[in-house]
Amino acid sequence: MEDDLTGKLTVGHGGQSYQDSHAESGQKERQNQMVQEKAQQMTPETQFMATAISLATENVVSGRGGPFGAVVVRGGEVVATGINQVTTSNDPTAHAEVVAIRNACKVLGSFKLDDCVVYTSCEPCPMCLAAIYWARCKAVFYGNSAADAAKIGFDDQLFYEELKRSNADRELPMMQWMSQEAWESFSAWEKSPMRIEY
Ligand code: ZN
Repeated sequence: MEDDLTGKLTVGHGGQSYQDSHAESGQKERQNQMVQEKAQQMTPETQFMATAISLATENVVSGRGGPFGAVVVRGGEVVATGINQVTTSNDPTAHAEVVAIRNACKVLGSFKLDDCVVYTSCEPCPMCLAAIYWARCKAVFYGNSAADAAKIGFDDQLFYEELKRSNADRELPMMQWMSQEAWESFSAWEKSPMRIEY
């Protein structure tokens, strides 16, 4: 009875030998260490990606759109975020990265994000990748891969394949037409004193 009572009183160690108890406390120490290490690993960069992922999930849960979120960061601080708004805004270009870039440019009052990094919940599609190039962002981190996206019905593979093909070989009919007339606007640009290079 005394043993039982002792066992009940020494919460967490009842019925265990010193070695067992010692082993358990060692395990707990290791667990605590792991938690601390994980907390330390929660760098700002990890948090930016976690934010992009949370935005993506929240977008689905709230019924606002596709499972995609993006964050634009400059100097270790979030400049702007974006979520997929294709279906809510009837805008096929409203992908999370494009929306985040637009928002970031508004915040910074600039068309260049050359000192910014993009954290996105999924590997950018060709359109978003091109937008990231146009914005001159300096790096991209992504969570899900394009292959992961394809598994749930977002297959950009065709677009990537199309980009590799010549104009004549693409599924989308494309032909050059009225190039001489079209040069007029380029000529105007070359002569324009108001042009702003970008
Ligand atoms: Zn995209």
